[in-house]
Amino acid sequence: MQYLSTRDKSLRVSAAEAIKMGLSRDGGLFTPVNFPVLRALDVEMLRGMSYPRRAAYIMGKYLEQFRPEDLGLFAERAYGPDRFDAPGVAPLRQLDQHTWCLELWHGPTSAFKDMALQMLPQLLSTSLRMTGEEKTACILAATSGDTGKAAMEGFADVEQTRILVFYPRDGVSEIQRLQMVTQEGDNVGVCAVEGNFDDAQNGVKRIFSDPAIREELEKRGCFLSSANSINWGRILPQVVYYISAYCDLLNAKEIKLGDKVNYCVPTGNFGNILACYYARRMGLPVGKLICASNRNDVLTEFIRTGVYDRNRPFHATMSPSMDILISSNLERLLFDLSGGDDQLVRSLMGQLEKTGRYEVPGEMREKLGELFYGGFCGEEDTASTVAMLYRCGYLIDTHTAVAAKVLTDYRRETGDMTPAIFVSTASPYKFCDSVLSAIGETPAEDSVDRIAQMEAVTGVAAPARLAALKGKAPRFHQVTKREAMENVVLDFLK
Ligand SMILES: *Cc1c(COP(=O)(O)O)cnc(C)c1O
Repeated sequence: MQYLSTRDKSLRVSAAEAIKMGLSRDGGLFTPVNFPVLRALDVEMLRGMSYPRRAAYIMGKYLEQFRPEDLGLFAERAYGPDRFDAPGVAPLRQLDQHTWCLELWHGPTSAFKDMALQMLPQLLSTSLRMTGEEKTACILAATSGDTGKAAMEGFADVEQTRILVFYPRDGVSEIQRLQMVTQEGDNVGVCAVEGNFDDAQNGVKRIFSDPAIREELEKRGCFLSSANSINWGRILPQVVYYISAYCDLLNAKEIKLGDKVNYCVPTGNFGNILACYYARRMGLPVGKLICASNRNDVLTEFIRTGVYDRNRPFHATMSPSMDILISSNLERLLFDLSGGDDQLVRSLMGQLEKTGRYEVPGEMREKLGELFYGGFCGEEDTASTVAMLYRCGYLIDTHTAVAAKVLTDYRRETGDMTPAIFVSTASPYKFCDSVLSAIGETPAEDSVDRIAQMEAVTGVAAPARLAALKGKAPRFHQVTKREAMENVVLDFLK
């Protein structure tokens, strides 16, 4: 399978090259030339497999260049019992007769980013070998809180790689910050940026497209790559759990093969829901793709009107990993919905850069509306949804609450009671402050003490690695202005 750039489809590369580079030189995102078909026979086979075997099987359809036995090994490692504390890796929890929650946070950093970032380093290492690359891959990541930690955890001490993470200084939860600044490993670095996530992400994009930096790094024997969801190696492992969840519903006899299932995804950079769309493209019977946003509702408006407009106030919310106004992966969706019109994509992305706004043509807007539903959930509703589900015996985090609420709104508005899965993207223990407040408790003074407090109040066990943050000393203290991110990179790669 070959991959092309969303901004120039004559530019084609192998999977290994796409994963190694992360972002295309022209600023476009690598996308598969076509989508492998998931046949009934495939699904029948997948049903009988463990999660790691399902992952190797599905990823193999996109990565023919990789040896199947290698992919099998990578998946066993990535999703092994030493890394994931749930036997099914990504378990479904039933809430009522037609609603399930897909828990994607049982990995080492307690957020769904682990599902991909436990896999990406292994894909990248192999890609370096396959392309004969001798330089060191330097991973630059901008994080809204969860990517940074999960990427460092995945890349820590991986040969021929270094990783530097930028996070918005005032835009992550205290637990998220502590997880990052206490990260171990000789090849990792962390730096706070004075600004929000979009500032950090724009800074990283700027560095990627700076020829002077590229040249300087080349001299030092390094090149830049990405662990953000612009990297195909991030999206692909995420396609797996949508198919896997469908298989689990089949095995539980809740649905029959061919029955539609709606998926509701709490969305920021549009990577997770894009993976669901790609699963649908492969033939998975996905009904509606429900895109749930917080108060930063730029995607809700886009899905409803076809106008993307980032010129609006930025809100810091209690679901900070979704505080994003520029959803990078939308570019891949635009490319696909336009039938692969790279010129159109280039023009829309150019407008976004210049004016912060673009509008898609009428027929694309129609397709968008048929496939997707967009909704958002404000702060009060987020808190009351956490409280409501807690009273029903289920403790969820604030991002998951956004999805739960938007699914309810969707059903009320449309009457569509198709079986639905809403996606749980983080452990409630990553956002103790907001979750404790939502369930009517006063959070303890110290942020790490809130973990034990929440355990005591709720009786739900905290993930072991979060509980272990207590008493860990920070290793990183650096803060930078947005304009000076270049210098941080050059210093780090000395
Ligand atoms: C990253 C993240 C999201 C948003 O996912 P995207 O792929 O960026 O849309 C939602 N919830 C949590 C907890 C996250 O870490």
